[in-house]
Amino acid sequence: MRAALAEVNLSALVKNLQQVRTTAPGARVLAIVKADGYGHGLEAVAKALAQAPQAADAFGVASIDDALRLRQCGINERIVLLSGFDELADFPYIEQLDLDCVVHHPSQLALLKQAQPKKPMRIWLKIDTGMRRLGFFPAQVTEVIDQLKQILAPGSEWVVMSHFAQSDEIGNRRSLYELHAAEQSAKQIRAFDALALSGYPQSLANSGAILGAPEAHRQWIRPGGLLYGLSTHSDACGHELGFTPVMRLSTRLIATKIIEAGDAVGYGGGFIATKRMRIGIAAIGYGDGYPRHASGGAPVWVAGHLSKTVGRVAMDLLSIDLTGIDHAEVGANVVLWGPELPVEHIARAAGTISYELTCGITRRVRFRYTDEK
Ligand SMILES: *Cc1c(COP(=O)(O)O)cnc(C)c1O
Repeated sequence: MRAALAEVNLSALVKNLQQVRTTAPGARVLAIVKADGYGHGLEAVAKALAQAPQAADAFGVASIDDALRLRQCGINERIVLLSGFDELADFPYIEQLDLDCVVHHPSQLALLKQAQPKKPMRIWLKIDTGMRRLGFFPAQVTEVIDQLKQILAPGSEWVVMSHFAQSDEIGNRRSLYELHAAEQSAKQIRAFDALALSGYPQSLANSGAILGAPEAHRQWIRPGGLLYGLSTHSDACGHELGFTPVMRLSTRLIATKIIEAGDAVGYGGGFIATKRMRIGIAAIGYGDGYPRHASGGAPVWVAGHLSKTVGRVAMDLLSIDLTGIDHAEVGANVVLWGPELPVEHIARAAGTISYELTCGITRRVRFRYTDEK
């Protein structure tokens, strides 16, 4: 059997939820589980968060398919469609599955008018305070709320929300970039507050702002990455921010060999040995979701020691420097990321963020759910 294995520690997930609650006391938690729970497995993640003490209050997904999966596995909490609906055919699902919908664009108001929902709806009205992605401009908001009141059945409810463009860097304010990011977020908060929407529940903060901008906590927080122990901060890993890594990606060595000075390793011969050395070949590659951009020198944990990759990452295989790790033989455990080795370090080596790596695990990797305390 192929050794590539993703272990998902559900105790760590629940601990991170509690840590989020401690950080933003009093706020309700919309747990973001889009993209298959950031690659950790939608159903398992949502069930653990729903059964936890001080459970998540609602779940956020990006598609009706994901919402259906959540209902089918017994999730009764509110589920928010983070981009709302985009065609009339969505409405029967929204009604049957009892989904909350983000409304962010005039085209959705037109769809709502056509759909004429008879039952009350729960709408998350999204305002673009500076992200320039989804959301109504502040100047449109009063008019949009008036229209919604006319279209929607009596008893409908609203949350008003916005999303930060640079919340990842507002934590430490050590660098000019962080100062700039903090200023950008402060501007977005001011634009939001200028609308004086205090009559509605509000939601602004994703992970970065939960940590870095307490003034943005409001009634609903929207943690994603932090629940999984992930950081997007440029110089702090999840565990340095007080969160526990949830995923461990591991495999085993399936070959070892001694190569001579001048030998080139792997496709393209990108690594050339400068001396006689021992290398190991691990059963994992970009076909499993290990990033090919982490070729040549990315950190890797092998037989209990920190080492690095040599040469290019292939589809099924990865070569590792075994210098000084003489006990690492065929069968030795290799951790690509996890509690032993922060996924943020691999992300940095690959020029991306941790979220992309956990989301990118492919279907041939086996998943195992654990409860390690
Ligand atoms: C994905 C998402 C989040 C979660 O962001 P994190 O940085 O993972 O906490 C929050 N809000 C919205 C609207 C999102 O799409």
